[in-house]
Amino acid sequence: MFRLHLNFPLLIALFLASLVTVISVIYVQENTIHTSKENISYQYARFLNQKVKYDADVLGEYINFIQTDNDLAAQFQEGNKKEIFASMEGLYKRLNRDIDVTHMYFIRTDGTVLLRVHDYNRDNDVIERETFKKAKETQKLVHGLEFGLKMNYTLRVVKPWYVNGKLIGYIEVGKEIDKIIDEYAHLLGNNVYIAIKKDIYRDAPDFVQSNLKRNCLVDDYYIAYNTFAIPPQMGSILNGSIEHQDISFQNHEYYVSKIDFSDFSKKKLGYIVFFQDVSIEHNAMYSSVKALIIMLILISSIFFILGYKLIRRKEKNINALTSVLNEQKEELFHASQKLQKLFDLQKNIIILTDGKKLNMANQSMLDFFGFEDLGHFLQHYNCICERFIEDDTFFHLGKVPNGENWVETLNHLSPENRIVAIYDKDNKTHVFSISLNEFEDERFVVAFADISNTMRDQIKLIQKVTHDKLTGAFNREFLDNSIHDIIREIEPNHLGVIMCDIDYFKRVNDTFGHNRGDEVLKEFAATVQKSIRNEDYLIRWGGEEFIVLVKVDTIESLQIIAEHIRTAVQNTYFEEVEKITASLGVTLFQENETILACIAKADKALYTAKANGRNQIQVYEFLE
Ligand code: GH3
Ligand code: MG
Ligand code: MG
Repeated sequence: MFRLHLNFPLLIALFLASLVTVISVIYVQENTIHTSKENISYQYARFLNQKVKYDADVLGEYINFIQTDNDLAAQFQEGNKKEIFASMEGLYKRLNRDIDVTHMYFIRTDGTVLLRVHDYNRDNDVIERETFKKAKETQKLVHGLEFGLKMNYTLRVVKPWYVNGKLIGYIEVGKEIDKIIDEYAHLLGNNVYIAIKKDIYRDAPDFVQSNLKRNCLVDDYYIAYNTFAIPPQMGSILNGSIEHQDISFQNHEYYVSKIDFSDFSKKKLGYIVFFQDVSIEHNAMYSSVKALIIMLILISSIFFILGYKLIRRKEKNINALTSVLNEQKEELFHASQKLQKLFDLQKNIIILTDGKKLNMANQSMLDFFGFEDLGHFLQHYNCICERFIEDDTFFHLGKVPNGENWVETLNHLSPENRIVAIYDKDNKTHVFSISLNEFEDERFVVAFADISNTMRDQIKLIQKVTHDKLTGAFNREFLDNSIHDIIREIEPNHLGVIMCDIDYFKRVNDTFGHNRGDEVLKEFAATVQKSIRNEDYLIRWGGEEFIVLVKVDTIESLQIIAEHIRTAVQNTYFEEVEKITASLGVTLFQENETILACIAKADKALYTAKANGRNQIQVYEFLE
């Protein structure tokens, strides 16, 4: 079906091309045949004219010869019919025998016949023919074709007869040229019919009319010189409904054409109709067309078979390819099912992704986010990465540079930094350590190991190690361990160091007890923490002494921050104790100095603040 479907247009195209070729060949060949036959009919007419002209010349010469006979001229002038006949009979008979002369007249100047050599007994009638009238009118030799009374197509040559410059009469010699018409027709392989309108003979005498009736009749025409039978199409040809055409007649093919036929006076008498046998040409044409058709069928078949084979081969290839593909598809399907099973067996969240598209996910992931299947998840998110919590401690999308995807970025990170935090379906934060394994085609198997518990313990431990138990502020160990990182983070001369010391704290202990003293320390640390920014560090340096590390632009702004801390403490209500104050020593960390040296400077300023009456700030840089 597939093959036929593809071959059908090819078939139609071949058929149409062949049809057009055959029709064109027939058309061209027919045209050639017609043109050549048309030429032949015109040639025929030309031959006829030439023959007539030639015969007229010959007859004219005979008349000349007769008119030079002085004795004959004298007899004619005397009207001696008998004498002339005696002189002329021999010549006439010879001419009749040798060159088909059929008429010879001796006519008086008034047009009456003195002698018909060919018909001795008829005389004294008046000649009315056009050729004669013309000769009489022009007084010159005139020749022309005219139908005689007997329906004979006759060449007539009339010449005025002058003796010593005086017109004495006329001599007319005539010749029926039917024979020429037939002869030429045979020569050219034509049937030539002369069709003459019946009207022309309306007024002809009875014997002529009856003579005519012996000819074949077609509609309004008499057909003369019909050597052969009259084809049934003759009527249509003569009335003009067929101008020229191929017709079949008596097992022959004829090309029919016609030319006008007129007499000497240019009066249209009818047509010369040509039936030219084109059977041979047609047979030759049909043979060549047959050969052409066979050739076209052969070529078409070859094309068709080749096309069919080509399509079959292609089809086989396609089938083979399809089955290979199907097998591969099945294998792939099984493989992916196995992979899915393997995925689902894992407790960890596992996905298969190229960083843009999420190809696979295991049951653990669906359970974690609370989705029934991957399709549902993908309706809400394009990527699991959209669920990463944007916390600086962890990896998240904000850390992916432009032009990279999250998997690429993660892949370049060291394993300890591949940590993400994600909210689960109950909005509980989980921390995952991610491991990546390249699978194929730049796709990765990404596994999320839940390390939330480990992380929590670790965070607690870190908290413990770096923070002061009583106040929650960073401890001195933190400062020792982290100061290098802090200095590195902040530009040189922009790290402000504030040293705070509670005034007369010993008294608090002494008056309200050590426990109350502890409470005051806690409250004091909280107050300072509140009056600084998140990114600033509050460190318990020892006892009731704290260090604040802040990022500042100028010493003046550092002074303002310190002042802010001081007033905050002053304005805070402490239970039982009610009011305490603090003194602050302030300095900027200089490049190339140690933190201890810097703290010593702050401590010096603090000492000055104490000495100057406490509850105040002293800036090391402004000390005298
Ligand atoms: P000054 O204004 O000069 O700083 O006087 P002061 O009394 O605050 O200074 P001093 O250094 O003489 O006293 C510090 C006191 O802080 C001594 C100590 O008992 C007390 N102290 C240190 N650590 C703690 C603590 O953890 N809890 C309590 N309750 N008191 C502490
Ligand atoms: Mg103190
Ligand atoms: Mg102190």
